[in-house]
Amino acid sequence: MDAPYAKLEQLEPGIGRVLAHNPSAFTYYGTQTYLIGERELAVIDPGPDLPEHLDALETAIAGRPVAAIMCTHTHRDHSPAARPLAQATGAPIVGCAPLALETVGPRADASFDGDYAADRVLADGEVIEVDGKPVAAVATPGHTSNHLCFAYEGALFTGDHVMGWSTTVVVPPDGDMAAYMQSLDRLRHRDDRIYYPAHGPPVTNPGQYVRHLIGHRMQREKQILKIVGEQPRPIPDIVASAYPGLDPRLVVAAGGSVFAHLVDLERRGLVERDGESWTAV
Ligand SMILES: [Zn+2]
Repeated sequence: MDAPYAKLEQLEPGIGRVLAHNPSAFTYYGTQTYLIGERELAVIDPGPDLPEHLDALETAIAGRPVAAIMCTHTHRDHSPAARPLAQATGAPIVGCAPLALETVGPRADASFDGDYAADRVLADGEVIEVDGKPVAAVATPGHTSNHLCFAYEGALFTGDHVMGWSTTVVVPPDGDMAAYMQSLDRLRHRDDRIYYPAHGPPVTNPGQYVRHLIGHRMQREKQILKIVGEQPRPIPDIVASAYPGLDPRLVVAAGGSVFAHLVDLERRGLVERDGESWTAV
């Protein structure tokens, strides 16, 4: 399939999309950058710092004023283009907080954009105006601790909190399964008309989709509890039992998700660990 790289696709009045050329096992066809507004714009998840993508964004912006460059979180496929785009357009970087991660040690993570800095960090519920219309931040920690979704005209830009093609990767120490589940529950109580995720197609049945995601995670949790209920098991064994036939490129991510579930279960007193092995209590 030919993906529409470097092209502006107008999805509805006031919402456009430009796909960055960074396909992978984690990004699907790549990161989708959204442009909202008409006479004045905001750019949501500017994406990776690739010259071709920046050129495409500048072409799509077509000289219109940019009120804000907004990042849902600071993974390297989402925020690095914010800096060059801010330089090119003069727009402020508004949105998620930077993450203070160590470059070595337990919180180090190569997938984070450590150079990200925001001109203005939005707290949950804070609103900015773009082209005369409100854009509200919805705090959704879990995938990362600094993750925000953005609500605009009945649409929710979900970043990596809800993706249109795959379940979200939640990996400790920054990723937190309990927070992720709470953030899904938050969306369940909203009334959004459509989700525009950073990866994968739009979600046109948000309520049903979120209930499905919650159900999927609860099933996964049950399955992990069953596997560690039989005997003490290390994570690679749990992954092999819980994800038969998994794409080898996703084994590490699946291990991270299993670990996230185990950390949550341990906090709730349902499992305990002994070295590398986990057992149901
Ligand atoms: Zn991410």
